[in-house]
Amino acid sequence: MFSLSQKIAFVTGAGSGIGRAIAIAFAEAGACVHAADIDLASAEETVAMLATPGTAHELDVRDQEACARVAALVHGAHGHLDILVNNAGVGHVGTALTTELDDLDRLHAVNVRGLLAVTKAFLPRMVERKAGNIIHMASIGGVLAVRDRLAYCATKFAVVGITKSMALDHAADGIRVNCICPGRVETPFVKARIAEYPDPEAAYREMSATQALGRMGLPEEVAAAAVYLASDEAAFVTGTPFLLDGGWAAGK
Ligand code: NAD
Repeated sequence: MFSLSQKIAFVTGAGSGIGRAIAIAFAEAGACVHAADIDLASAEETVAMLATPGTAHELDVRDQEACARVAALVHGAHGHLDILVNNAGVGHVGTALTTELDDLDRLHAVNVRGLLAVTKAFLPRMVERKAGNIIHMASIGGVLAVRDRLAYCATKFAVVGITKSMALDHAADGIRVNCICPGRVETPFVKARIAEYPDPEAAYREMSATQALGRMGLPEEVAAAAVYLASDEAAFVTGTPFLLDGGWAAGK
């Protein structure tokens, strides 16, 4: 088990699915976890599951002022932040024909602009300390095209681009920046997409078969990768789109 003892971590979208699993795994590894979500009650539920004392925050990542306020709270309590996980994200099913510009704007506002808003709230203090670790949640849809996911792929390719840009820009500041690119993971997010199909059971089977391993991933499996990337054992890893896709991309 990699240790995150003495580390202060902040996770967005921590009230559900992958974000919740990351908060739980970080606490198990010894970190002090700040769990943020647009839905405060769900973040509080997550904090109640943590092995170490944590704090829940209501945060809409689209609200830049709110991001600054929550960062000030964290810095006020600890003086700094060690690990930022930009996990909050939203999805959409559609092609160029069926994706409205508003759909694109809605996804961009959370998956790209929101990710940058949270980052900008914490980054200056990391640069000042010459230490920091940032993990963005991208997707397999950030490295290859996924059918019927135009807006989602557009935003997740952007997340991979931001990851690489930031890794270059801030390596000399002692800050590592990576992203995780999961294949399909069984969370409320994927269940909502499946429910949009006329035959949800067939969609579930098809989505499972996309992975060479023939199944979807588990939130805990993504969380294990986040613990590694956040740990000092990953000191030489930066700018990486970390594929965790059950072999989806292996044949592409
Ligand atoms: P989820 O829907 O279960 O959880 C997402 C959480 O983000 C929710 O708690 C939601 O309230 C929160 N959230 C949404 N909008 C927000 C906002 N504006 N501000 C703050 N919080 C907000 O989703 P998940 O499956 O756990 O996905 C988490 C991340 O992983 C997303 O970025 C998603 O794109 C990515 N991802 C998921 C999968 C998958 O198959 N589940 C695959 C690849 C990537």
